[in-house]
Amino acid sequence: MSCGDHHETSCEEVLARVYSYLDGELDQGGCGEVREHLDECGPCLREYGLEEAVKKLVGKCCQAEHAPDELRAKVMGRIEEVCGEIRSAETEKAPESSAGPPA
Ligand SMILES: [Zn+2]
Repeated sequence: MSCGDHHETSCEEVLARVYSYLDGELDQGGCGEVREHLDECGPCLREYGLEEAVKKLVGKCCQAEHAPDELRAKVMGRIEEVCGEIRSAETEKAPESSAGPPA
């Protein structure tokens, strides 16, 4: 479940930012940044089935419109799921060798 090297910001970080934005932690100033990240990460979000819903939601928030709570909760829940998937995929791919390298 990796999205390759098509963008510098990791998918997980993009999603974390989107999540914070939707959660109201980022002010309106963060809107452009979030949208930028969404553009960067569009192909991966599409893969996760999130692109359309997230863009719609962020678009509404950017215009200071009140997004339906139901939709927001749904998208935020999905973001949590996808973040979990990305995290476990990364753990499988590159396990941190906490035991240290063999001598
Ligand atoms: Zn991505």
